[in-house]
Amino acid sequence: MPHLLILAMPVPPMALEVLGAIVEERVVDTPYGVVGPLARRSCSTCDADLWILPYFGSPTRTDPRATIWAAKDLGVQRVLAMESMVGLDHALTRGDIVLPTDYIDWTKHQPTTFFERIGAGYISQKPPFCPDISAAIRANLNVARPVVYLGDEGPRHETAAEARMFLKWGAQVRGLNLVPETYLAKELELCFAAVGIVTAHGADRERAHGKGAVRIATRQVLDALPHIFAHLSAPPTCGCNHLQDGARRRGVLSENWKDWQ
Ligand SMILES: [Zn+2]
Repeated sequence: MPHLLILAMPVPPMALEVLGAIVEERVVDTPYGVVGPLARRSCSTCDADLWILPYFGSPTRTDPRATIWAAKDLGVQRVLAMESMVGLDHALTRGDIVLPTDYIDWTKHQPTTFFERIGAGYISQKPPFCPDISAAIRANLNVARPVVYLGDEGPRHETAAEARMFLKWGAQVRGLNLVPETYLAKELELCFAAVGIVTAHGADRERAHGKGAVRIATRQVLDALPHIFAHLSAPPTCGCNHLQDGARRRGVLSENWKDWQ
């Protein structure tokens, strides 16, 4: 079963060779738009097939429903995102590696469900991110600091007043690409978690320095990815792939997930 790696930050293609050679490229047509091209890599050191999707800025950033639908259509169960994030917590600085363990949804114009027309989608957000993938990240990238993530919308940056407000709410980092993706993935019974690299400070702080620190952190995450995916070669134990069992039993959802909209 292949995995999907969402690259929500620029990574030089050469640096991805640690994940094996490209064996296929594909564009996936979904009811929410076209996704891709996605590159499939055969990673011998991870013993895994990986689809990789660039996911930052226009035009590669798609409707989040299209992204998750495409992952499901490709037979993916586990989605791991790698994103650059703004450090709201004053203890975070450029080059810090973080593991989102909870989130606040501050998006305003994003789709919130696949089930607008059928009244399904009441899914617990405890835990907010897949425990299996999060455990694999913790085991193979132990510098990753657990953080609360604030999902926001671009393209503008936050104001200083917003940065102070987000921090008071308990958010430690701000990003643009994990929400609503993480809860849309749950709706289609996919696993979703992320690793982040802090590349900037919140607007209430002095500008961050240390460009080399981001480069070093990116290398560190890329070097850990084969081990993280190797860790995920066993079948899921997290339960994400059974989140709609109740809805199926009640007849709210059919056996064919492509009818779930
Ligand atoms: Zn899971």
